[in-house]
Amino acid sequence: MLLLDSKTKKKLLNRLVSIVGEEHVTQQETDRVLNAHDCWPLSEAKIRAGEMLPLADIIVFPASSEEISQILIVANELEVPVIPIGGGAGTCGGTLAIYGGIQLDLKRMVKIFEIDHESMTVKAEAGVIGIDLEEEVNRHGYTMGHTPTSLRASNVGGFIATRSGGSLSSLYGKIEDLTLGLQVVLPDGSVVECKSVPRHSVGPDLRQLFIGSEGVLGIITEATLRLFLIPEERRFRSFSFPDVHSGLEAIRNIFRIEITPSIVRLYDPEDAAMAFSMHFEFEEGHCMLLLGFDGDVAQNDIDESKSVKICNDCGGTDHGEGPSKRWWDHRYDMYYPSRLTTSGFAIGDTIDIVATYDKLENVYHAMKEAMEVHDVIVMSHFSHMYQNGGSIYMIFFSSQPDAETAWSTYKKVWDDGVAACLREGGTMSHQHGVGLTRSTYTEDELGSSFHVLKQIKEVLDPKGIMNPGKLGLGVRK
Ligand SMILES: Cc1cc2nc3c(=O)[nH]c(=O)nc-3n(C[C@H](O)[C@H](O)[C@H](O)COP(=O)(O)OP(=O)(O)OC[C@H]3O[C@@H](n4cnc5c(N)ncnc54)[C@H](O)[C@@H]3O)c2cc1C
Repeated sequence: MLLLDSKTKKKLLNRLVSIVGEEHVTQQETDRVLNAHDCWPLSEAKIRAGEMLPLADIIVFPASSEEISQILIVANELEVPVIPIGGGAGTCGGTLAIYGGIQLDLKRMVKIFEIDHESMTVKAEAGVIGIDLEEEVNRHGYTMGHTPTSLRASNVGGFIATRSGGSLSSLYGKIEDLTLGLQVVLPDGSVVECKSVPRHSVGPDLRQLFIGSEGVLGIITEATLRLFLIPEERRFRSFSFPDVHSGLEAIRNIFRIEITPSIVRLYDPEDAAMAFSMHFEFEEGHCMLLLGFDGDVAQNDIDESKSVKICNDCGGTDHGEGPSKRWWDHRYDMYYPSRLTTSGFAIGDTIDIVATYDKLENVYHAMKEAMEVHDVIVMSHFSHMYQNGGSIYMIFFSSQPDAETAWSTYKKVWDDGVAACLREGGTMSHQHGVGLTRSTYTEDELGSSFHVLKQIKEVLDPKGIMNPGKLGLGVRK
């Protein structure tokens, strides 16, 4: 699908070449086909089934904010869509060029500028892959505390653009808690700096406008992130529970007395059976709670013993460190190779939602019921927990006889799952973002605040060049 007429395309190509050099621009079909999907399971399933998804016209690889600024000035002048690409591991189709245009890939922007030992921060360019940054700061005795399972595939800009959350986030925080400074290139090419400070009271925090903006408001080019000392030890503990309710009660009571484990994950009976029954003995139909504690030995002794008492009081059965440690050691295994690399019309995805404790269990049951109506297997874990609530990872999959049934079943599961979530007072995305998958639900989700987002978009990007069709914004006829 070519959006650009050949004259505009030629003009664009010449201008891009003059900005970044010939070797950093491509319009090769193989490159464009590779970029026609991210880790959105539907884009992968469709490609496996032989369906071609929309292609960008051109892919460009800038090396600096200045080059990005010039590219956006040209794109604005010619009114060409620009779609930022980070690591390309997003799960919502955020990097797909659904209206053609330029895919702007940040993989050349990989400088790690400096570690500030005094302030415990590190500044890096947006294209630095998570694991490279983590290993670099590890060499100096620090950790970023941000460890999404996509750490080896996603980069700093992608983490920030999707408002991502790592698996140790109960203790260290999510990316919005960890980002102290930002540089962003706006759609008109101007470069905006949000100073690195622990907090401020100079009006609203504009960093938060760009954290989670999924490329629709500009391009994140640099960030200053918090650092933590590598903990003396990470300790693991696991408990099974007869049902979701008692497992959630244990979690709620742990947070209530202000213990903040680094790992808190509750697997429902289906997910617990899938993840642990081959390796550990526990009663069929039971849930599994994984806990992890980061800190010094003395502090971990206190936090662990208080948590153990709470788990026992809530009807838990102690399984020692086994399941929790196994999950940590093998947390990347299931993705490589992807379980969905089967032939045929297998569909699957994860709807990650969030709610406060008073609604969380109702959201879980309502979504499960609404999704299972479509004959898909649903299994879930509560994966990122807080003092006031937590997230649920609702995973579904099934095998379908043909493409048409597969894609329509996929859509119905999403429509009905999200509708049930919203009806019960949940929020439709905890950490994966909106992208294309959730774009049509964004207005319902945000309700009265949607028009604020829309107006911000119109002011910052009047020609609608930035990542059109994502986050419920800029959908073209
Ligand atoms: C195996 C696997 C495990 C995952 N585990 C987690 C997890 O534990 N926690 C979690 O939160 N997510 C997880 N994800 C989802 C995803 O990887 C994250 O949301 C991640 O932050 C996306 O980063 P990326 O660099 O891959 O972004 P991309 O996929 O490249 O882009 C995602 C979106 O951000 C925009 N974007 C990218 N870079 C920029 C930039 N510099 N400026 C402006 N916009 C930009 C893109 O246009 C797109 O809309 C996982 C994904 C996979 C495949």
